Amino acid sequence: MKIEIDKLISHLKTQGFVFPGSEIYGGLANSWDYGPLGSEVKNKLKKLWWDFFVRRNEYNIGLDSSIILNPKVWQASGHLGNFNDPLIDCKKCKSRFRADKLIEEKFSDMNVGGWTNQKIEDFIKDKSINCPKCNANDFTNIRQFTLMFKTNQGVVEDEASTVYLRPETAQGIFVQYKNSQRALRKKLPFGIGQIGKSFRNEITPGNFIFRTREFEQMELEFFFSPNDTNDWFEYWLKKVKFFLEKIILIDKKNYSIREHKKDELAHYAKRTVDIEFDFPFGRGELWGIAHRSDFDLKQHQTHSGQDLSYLDPETNEKYIANVIEPSVGVERLLLAIFCQSYVEEKIDNGERIVMKLPYQLAPYSIAIMPLQKQQNKRANELYKELLLDFDATFDETGNIGKRYRRQDAIGTPYCITIDFDTEKDNSVTVRNRDTMNQERIEIKNLKQYLLAKIF
Ligand code: ATP
Repeated sequence: MKIEIDKLISHLKTQGFVFPGSEIYGGLANSWDYGPLGSEVKNKLKKLWWDFFVRRNEYNIGLDSSIILNPKVWQASGHLGNFNDPLIDCKKCKSRFRADKLIEEKFSDMNVGGWTNQKIEDFIKDKSINCPKCNANDFTNIRQFTLMFKTNQGVVEDEASTVYLRPETAQGIFVQYKNSQRALRKKLPFGIGQIGKSFRNEITPGNFIFRTREFEQMELEFFFSPNDTNDWFEYWLKKVKFFLEKIILIDKKNYSIREHKKDELAHYAKRTVDIEFDFPFGRGELWGIAHRSDFDLKQHQTHSGQDLSYLDPETNEKYIANVIEPSVGVERLLLAIFCQSYVEEKIDNGERIVMKLPYQLAPYSIAIMPLQKQQNKRANELYKELLLDFDATFDETGNIGKRYRRQDAIGTPYCITIDFDTEKDNSVTVRNRDTMNQERIEIKNLKQYLLAKIF
């Protein structure tokens, strides 16, 4: 999978998938909007995640919590004190960097998670890591920079009205753990899934939609008894891999699994694994899976004064549940899918760009095309009929070759052409995006044919 990211970005813009944010005003750095086709793919991706991790999992339920929470939540979770990145400035050109990423970008096999600031500063000096912008070797000391976006709630702007935009969706789940468990009469083990916006004032956003300050997360918090001997970590790691390979068809060759070393783990974490994807700009975290012990619920119990323990109906024992958290960013996953799908191909009569999106993620499943104007009426009738079961589009402009290219470029799996013979044989030509093979199918069998191919 060798693609140039600039070509991909330009393609996604011209085809209506992703637009630079606020573009008519000169843009807003590192912000992106999802266009008519991008928003379709994004919604379909979220639906697939929700179906797999929430709706069709025997243990799990869903939630939709607020973006703005009581600030005490962030005190309890540790975000207000600790959700910082190490900021370092180049004294010469004044550029700012994340000190840990300066090292990791230079030495791609290194991971400095868990290092102290002193250790990072020493390493940068010892290895003479230069400023990536001006090549000078003159950095300030590291300062901790908080990633929390601050705002005020209500009419008075003071300390008491300060609130924060959530930097992760997970805490909303912990706060509603007890209500959800009681209302749905859930017994451990069970999980709560959530999809929603998160905000982080990243020091160095970039690499297109890989790292932005506003993004969406799909997170699952899976609660289980500390006495449970099942390996729930392995269970969820397997589920994540299954989702990647079998549901959204991420090629095994394009991702790898990185186990966090002991000195990299957060103090409360028992195990953490990152699923990393080979993006065109390098390997990067796609999906994190962490065993968070009973840390979060314990913290919220202490800070809120509410009992968040679980009374085991079988043993009559009271304990705080442990948690496994698989967490992924919607846009990062989308970027991985876009990177893997974008293909430039030589074909008989020239070249084509084809987005080989998984069928279930393509903005349109089918395109209906009348060969000539005379067939418009019949084609329109068929289009309206098929719209009841499929995400369909109608394409009547340009010659048929151009129309095929246009649908290839946005990833439409099947094109259906109504031609001169349709009147006589009640059949249409169905053309597949990937093989470009064409088949003649009777209209009465068309729905069944497409259902079997697409879903
Ligand atoms: P990174 O090391 O890349 O900053 P992280 O370890 O802080 O990521 P988590 O807090 O574990 O990330 O967040 C879970 C997931 O949310 C990540 O695996 C990623 O897919 C996504 N994510 C996190 N930060 C961003 C961001 N700024 N933009 C887009 N997606 C993000």
